[in-house]
Amino acid sequence: MTELHVHLDGSVRPGTVYELARRQGVETGITGLYRMPKKDAIDALSKKMTAPASCRDLNDYLECFRLPLSVLQEEDAIERVAMELGEDLVKDGVTKAEIRFAPLSFCTKHLTPKDAIRACERGVRTAMRQNPDLTLSLIICCMRGQEESPFVKSDRADLSGKEVNFRLLDLVAELKNDVVKAVDLAGAEALYPTERYLPLFAHAARLGLPFTIHAGEAAGASSVRAAVDAGTTRIGHGVRVIENRLLAELLAKKKITLECCLLSNFQTNVFSRREDHPIRRLFDLGVRVTLNTDNRTVSGTNMQKEIETAQRMFGFTDAEIRRMQEYAEEALF
Ligand SMILES: [Zn+2]
Repeated sequence: MTELHVHLDGSVRPGTVYELARRQGVETGITGLYRMPKKDAIDALSKKMTAPASCRDLNDYLECFRLPLSVLQEEDAIERVAMELGEDLVKDGVTKAEIRFAPLSFCTKHLTPKDAIRACERGVRTAMRQNPDLTLSLIICCMRGQEESPFVKSDRADLSGKEVNFRLLDLVAELKNDVVKAVDLAGAEALYPTERYLPLFAHAARLGLPFTIHAGEAAGASSVRAAVDAGTTRIGHGVRVIENRLLAELLAKKKITLECCLLSNFQTNVFSRREDHPIRRLFDLGVRVTLNTDNRTVSGTNMQKEIETAQRMFGFTDAEIRRMQEYAEEALF
């Protein structure tokens, strides 16, 4: 199987967080964690890292990333979780995947974005060496709003200022190879509209960097329109394009691939009723929809579960699932 959309920091094993937090002396917010039997401690961490089936708000969801991010401020930790994600994908039957992450989120202590990207690259290369059938690559995420709120403070890198995402693209262009392949834009879509980032993607195009854009998840069809205007060939989520039928038809015509993540959309209440999710309607309109996990740990999911959900709730046949897999395969960077 092929998976296009999986975030590293949302897919960390709770058992690994346990070991890393203990070794790094990171505060987990769970009293007496290391006095509990290890299994109970890992269960408690797992609960903190997995969003409820339906979140009250986006904060509920984002809170689940706090713990894994707190232990991912060291190179060896990033390398390890990248390698383990490769192993978990193999166990899930995935042989080709593009793993994404925002390096700036790993730079709150002393890492630079370059350290973070290189560490992740080492991890996925190890996973591929150990599993010869596995092909992994990396998508580097720019963060919406980063240019305004320098939440990242590293003593070795200046990660603030209006140009921060542009500089990240320059870095990716420098590091680009058979693993570091493409870029993305993630973060608070409703607060920082996609339109604002058109110059960023013009810069990506100038640098020859392929890209995808998170759009049409927390914001509506106009966000998808902006992603199309940016010249994207893929969109993360994109499902709210259903609000504009003509635009949905345009996606089909332009063969733009949507990286859909059903369980994640259910958790963040993208549609008020699950059965209103438009994946079936979009597929029937000829839009290239694909199935993805988004965040294996935060969403408590894997590809098998996503496929099972698509079949049970939206009546996709085995042949249609295979079709979506072909779309994913063709969309790989
Ligand atoms: Zn995502």
